[in-house]
Amino acid sequence: MAGPVKDREAFQRLSFLYQAAHCVPAQDPENQPLARFYCHTERTIAKRLVLRRDPAVKRSLCRGCSSLLVPGLTCTQRQRRRKGLRWTVQTCLTCQRSQRFLNDPRHLLWGDRPEAQLGSLTDLKATQAPPSTALPVPVDLPEEKVQPLSPLEVMDAPSLPRK
Ligand SMILES: [Zn+2]
Repeated sequence: MAGPVKDREAFQRLSFLYQAAHCVPAQDPENQPLARFYCHTERTIAKRLVLRRDPAVKRSLCRGCSSLLVPGLTCTQRQRRRKGLRWTVQTCLTCQRSQRFLNDPRHLLWGDRPEAQLGSLTDLKATQAPPSTALPVPVDLPEEKVQPLSPLEVMDAPSLPRK
C-alpha cells in the first residue's frame, strides 16, 4: 500500500502474535492453549484499535474460541454441496464451530476489487497501477463483506497472509 501505514507498530504486533501462534504447533502440538492465547490477544488488539485484518488471517482463526485453524490439526475441512453450490466447510475441533466458504474461483473479495480502492486513489494520480492487497484493508470496507459466508477464491491450503 502506498504511503505510510497508520498504526504501523500495532500491525507489527499483530503480525508477531499471528506468527508466534504458527510456531507453537511446530514446536509442541499439544500446547494449543498457548496458540489460542496468542490469537486471542491478536484479535483483542485488532478489535480495540479497530484495525482491519486481511480476510485470509481472519479465516484462519476460529470465531468462537480464537483457535488457530490448521486443517487436519485443529480443524477439519470438508467439501459440501448445498443449494447446488460447492462449499468448503471448516470446523474447529476445539469448539466445533464451523464456517462455510463458497468455492468460486472467479470471485474477488471486495477489498481486492478496483472499485474498493477508489476512495484511497482519488487524491493520487488516476493513472496509478492497480492497487495491491495490503494487510490494512480500506477502512470503508463493510464488515459483512468478509463474513464467513462470503466466498473464497481458492480453498486448497491454509495460507499465510498475502503480502
Ligand atoms: Zn473454535
